[in-house]
Amino acid sequence: MPDCIFCKIIAGQIPAKIVYEDPVVLAFHDLQPQAPVHLLIVPKQHLDRVSDLDETTALLAGQLVATGNRLARELGIAQSGYRLVINCNSDGGQSVYHLHLHLLGGRPMHWPPG
Ligand code: 5GP
Ligand code: ZN
Repeated sequence: MPDCIFCKIIAGQIPAKIVYEDPVVLAFHDLQPQAPVHLLIVPKQHLDRVSDLDETTALLAGQLVATGNRLARELGIAQSGYRLVINCNSDGGQSVYHLHLHLLGGRPMHWPPG
């Protein structure tokens, strides 16, 4: 996806603070962190949004969550707690149309979100 900012990060065309990479997913720091820990975990395969997951790609969701869980443990926030968020489309607060999971932690989270 030529105009996708996360595809450009995956391709190494624009910089990001990458914390984890494997053949399927990439994790990096959010540019505008909303919490002491705020990482984005993305599949290397471009999908516009979570609602585009289907039977052939649904395993990606589990890989994003498993990566978020492991990074939360490694960053020492697993015990205190954290939030995994996927926003979908405009009412869901999505601003970048490449599927991504937010890992937020390091402070108490409030519910409901604003
Ligand atoms: P969304 O609102 O789509 O769920 O989340 C998109 C996130 O991507 C936002 O938290 C925003 O700060 C982050 N973001 C947008 N552009 C960039 C970028 O170029 N680099 C990084 N690292 N994060 C970005
Ligand atoms: Zn993309």
